[in-house]
Amino acid sequence: MTQGKLFIISAPSGAGKTSLVKQLATHTQDLIVSISHTTRPMRPGEVEGQDYFFVTHDDFSAMLKRQAFLEYAEVYDNFYGTTLQSVETSLNNGQDVILEIDWQGAELVKKILPDSVAIFIFPPSIAVLQERLLARGQDSTAVITRRMQNAIAEMRHYPSFDYLIVNDDFQRAFLEIQSIINVYRLTRERQQHNLQALLVNLLT
Ligand code: 5GP
Repeated sequence: MTQGKLFIISAPSGAGKTSLVKQLATHTQDLIVSISHTTRPMRPGEVEGQDYFFVTHDDFSAMLKRQAFLEYAEVYDNFYGTTLQSVETSLNNGQDVILEIDWQGAELVKKILPDSVAIFIFPPSIAVLQERLLARGQDSTAVITRRMQNAIAEMRHYPSFDYLIVNDDFQRAFLEIQSIINVYRLTRERQQHNLQALLVNLLT
């Protein structure tokens, strides 16, 4: 059994990352999206255990103490973390896993698991980024202003990533990310395992 591949997807908020990851999850076979734990309050429409596991600061600290996290970071005064359990089992079962995490988490995971593949998504412009944050209508103006400033700081970290995608046309961005995933599924290492029967048939 070959190990699954770990894909990290990061973007400033408003770049469309969550919608892209949702589309990838529903249109790509055998792709697991890791669900993070967060101390952030639930937004309208979010579902416990689907978007995040929403926990208290005390719960989060307890998990930190028992080293439950592969990585964690503080983003906009809230804590977010990926549990080891949410990735290890799937990778060991040969399934590919997506982590939708910020640049700090991405840099940490790349250090711990250098074989992971990090993808950064850019918005097509600052104006579009602002429009998307406003259209979401879920955050206060103060939060949006802060997120705009942070977005620029976040985008400066793109050199830590292996692939860069611009989410101008949603469908194109989706296909581009899917092709990155497919490339890793077609490597000799993976295919040798998947095509065992065919290889025996063709070569003996
Ligand atoms: P939001 O509050 O908008 O859902 O997420 C804020 C930021 O936290 C996003 O950049 C998101 O990717 C990041 N994030 C979500 N889960 C995790 C996690 O488990 N670890 C890290 N490092 N960042 C995360």
